[in-house]
Amino acid sequence: MAGEPQADCLFCKIVTGEVPATVVRETETTVAFRDINPQAPTHVLVIPKAHHADAAALAAADPQLTADVLREAGEVAAQEKVADHGYRIVFNTGSGAGQTVFHAHAHVLGGRGLQWPPG
Ligand code: 5GP
Ligand code: ZN
Repeated sequence: MAGEPQADCLFCKIVTGEVPATVVRETETTVAFRDINPQAPTHVLVIPKAHHADAAALAAADPQLTADVLREAGEVAAQEKVADHGYRIVFNTGSGAGQTVFHAHAHVLGGRGLQWPPG
């Protein structure tokens, strides 16, 4: 069922604490933690605690939770002091776009120059 924890999902395990992570912010509905393989000085992942496979599935199932994730991405950028200079929020969607973990997550990237268009 949409939103239910998945036994084989890495990010569901980060939500429960079964897999450790460096958590930078947490709300009732979201967790934000540092990416294990950072691509920028600030590289934080913001996830909904509920399991949804990707951003589109999350948005279709729960608009309020989608808004929670986006608001937290902005809060992370402010906390990390990258908001003034500029930062990027990325939702890789599908393996062809580089999605490797199928639990929706926003990448918050900042602290260096970010090229446009991205690779
Ligand atoms: P995706 O490739 O699905 O858009 O993003 C998944 C991200 O999760 C990658 O940037 C990867 O480095 C990160 N990641 C994978 N395994 C772990 C882990 O065990 N802990 C943390 N903190 N990040 C992880
Ligand atoms: Zn999950």
